[in-house]
Amino acid sequence: MIIKPKVRGFICTNAHPQGCAHNVHEQIEYIKQQGTIENGPKNVLVIGASTGYGLASRITAAFGCGANTFGVFFEKPNTAKRTGSAGYYNAAAFEHAAQEAGLYSKSINGDAFSTEIKDKTIAQIKQDMGKIDLVVYSLASPRRTDPVSGETFNSVLKPIGQSYTARSLNTDTLTIADVTLDPANEQEISNTVKVMGGEDWEMWITALKEADVLSEGCKTTAYTYLGDKLTWPIYGQATIGKAKEDLDRAAKAIEQTLAPLGGQANVSVLKALVTQASSAIPIMPLYISILYKVMKEDGSHEGCIEQLYRLFSEGLYSDKPRLDEANRLRMDERELREEVQGAVEKIWPTVTEENLFEATDYKGYADEFLKLFGFGLNSIDYDEDIAPEPSVKVNF
Ligand code: NAD
Repeated sequence: MIIKPKVRGFICTNAHPQGCAHNVHEQIEYIKQQGTIENGPKNVLVIGASTGYGLASRITAAFGCGANTFGVFFEKPNTAKRTGSAGYYNAAAFEHAAQEAGLYSKSINGDAFSTEIKDKTIAQIKQDMGKIDLVVYSLASPRRTDPVSGETFNSVLKPIGQSYTARSLNTDTLTIADVTLDPANEQEISNTVKVMGGEDWEMWITALKEADVLSEGCKTTAYTYLGDKLTWPIYGQATIGKAKEDLDRAAKAIEQTLAPLGGQANVSVLKALVTQASSAIPIMPLYISILYKVMKEDGSHEGCIEQLYRLFSEGLYSDKPRLDEANRLRMDERELREEVQGAVEKIWPTVTEENLFEATDYKGYADEFLKLFGFGLNSIDYDEDIAPEPSVKVNF
């Protein structure tokens, strides 16, 4: 089939197998060029390993530390008529590259919130890997079925307390208009915490610990975004922020669980960038387009892989990690510099539909969005008639 992007609203419903493989190899090359991370992990479990920050974590562990990796994700395989999801192709390309490099790499494609997938993962780890010394929790999901009650919860992206009106960019029509988001009710807040809070992270660590597959000194981290004034009403102080606050509670509880092993649990604060998850959040596309312009101009722009390399080398495996008062590892310090936030705030009210491409780096945003799905790459011939299979055989 000829595979061209099919964008619907803030998602792209197809993906290009070769383009996705290209993206994975590009990230692997970046990590290889940085050199080995001293005292890095050797056996790593990444939950949410197929796209965005989780994929970058897996690549950094494997190619920056020589680690064996086990990945869990929820992706769509291709059929004869439809392409698979980007994460499916990414995971296939990663596994192949890792195996070529002599690194153990296996994956499970299924619902990480379920007991079944936790049990299967643990059985495979026991059989193949022995003990895990790093667990990365990088899930982003709009819903979660509680494995105990069977009830399904949906998250919402809404402010708390009062409605919030702000300029928002519609990435479909390239129009800019004020959008008003009504405040969440108590039920919506608690449902969002149930989906994106720390409960499932805790469940994973408890299950792994009880199965005795965590090593002495095991580390675990889950990812959050904090942001600043511009994004607080829709992120930091909104429903998703409440869920993320729950990660801080979970990190403390997990440290208790890991205490007998001398283990460590930290929330890691990462910067805002284009992923499938962030493009679904109102305001974020405009914020990120302006942020990219400011950070590219001052030379401090980073993508997932640059952030993850720094998280491993300056955070998780550093003698002097940059921790905040809540014991969180901070990798968002460049985004939160006063001069960067100040510049974004100044540009924000001046953006119009007419000057979108000059006042912001919307082009960079849009290119990166398409790239997430393997599109817009010079090295790929998008007119070529290809099979929708991953370029390598997969066993997940
Ligand atoms: P993403 O959408 O690129 O990745 C989500 C991952 O979760 C994928 O691997 C997907 O397969 C997996 N997943 C989703 N539901 C699943 C399920 N039920 N079972 C198994 N796997 C499932 O998202 P991302 O932006 O990389 O987000 C990862 C984490 O980083 C999130 O916690 C997010 O809040 C955080 N974060 C993101 C940003 C940002 O700007 N993108 C900034 C800071 C922190």
